Amino acid sequence: MEPAGDEYIEPADGLIHCKKCHGSRQTVVPRFGGSGYFMPRCLCPCKQKAQGLPDRYLYDYTFANDNGQNPAMEKTHAYVEHWKEAYRDNTGLLLFGDVGTGKSFFAGCIANALLDRDVPVLMTNFPSILNRQTGVFAEDRLAFIASLLVIDDLGVERNTEYAMEQIFTIIDSRYRSKKPLIVTTNLKLEEIKNPPDLAHARIYGRILERCAPVLFSGKNFREEGARAAKAAAKEIVSKG
Ligand SMILES: [Zn+2]
Repeated sequence: MEPAGDEYIEPADGLIHCKKCHGSRQTVVPRFGGSGYFMPRCLCPCKQKAQGLPDRYLYDYTFANDNGQNPAMEKTHAYVEHWKEAYRDNTGLLLFGDVGTGKSFFAGCIANALLDRDVPVLMTNFPSILNRQTGVFAEDRLAFIASLLVIDDLGVERNTEYAMEQIFTIIDSRYRSKKPLIVTTNLKLEEIKNPPDLAHARIYGRILERCAPVLFSGKNFREEGARAAKAAAKEIVSKG
């Protein structure tokens, strides 16, 4: 295997590395049942991040950029800390509340923190998935194989029959793959629990079954102590 223009062979391990982030783009896997090993291609951290966060502004949604004012951030940390259990138990989150209450930032911090730990994450939204013409894109494949899929802003997509069908296919695939899903939405929990028609009902039903609802409201943040938030987060991630 030859290194491409943006790659080099690292003398320390003899593997192909990325010139940009210096991470490895090759990994060593022992041959099953025999001697020796092979060295398949893998994504270096910067490629993994570029694929997982197709919208560049998401790069800034990190713990380092948190101003510490929002007690709900405790839940973000708890979800990341308890990621192994969340993944094992297929525990997702449904972050709902008014515009500007920090839901996307919350979800983005989880995505970035897990990507930093080499967990394959994809954070995207339905309009961006649906706006594409037919064809298989890396992002679409990742929607199925990513360990964590984050769908930002559920409910802003058009309510066409085609859109509803595509959305159900993605949500249902996640459900069947038993891998966690995090959804943010400006919809009210009442609207999600009382869908207007069957097409919405089957999408929302799947989400409610696997995602623990977390309310985002400025008022509640001020009333809620950090200790209570932490306890709530523990409960969320321990929910089976
Ligand atoms: Zn790289």
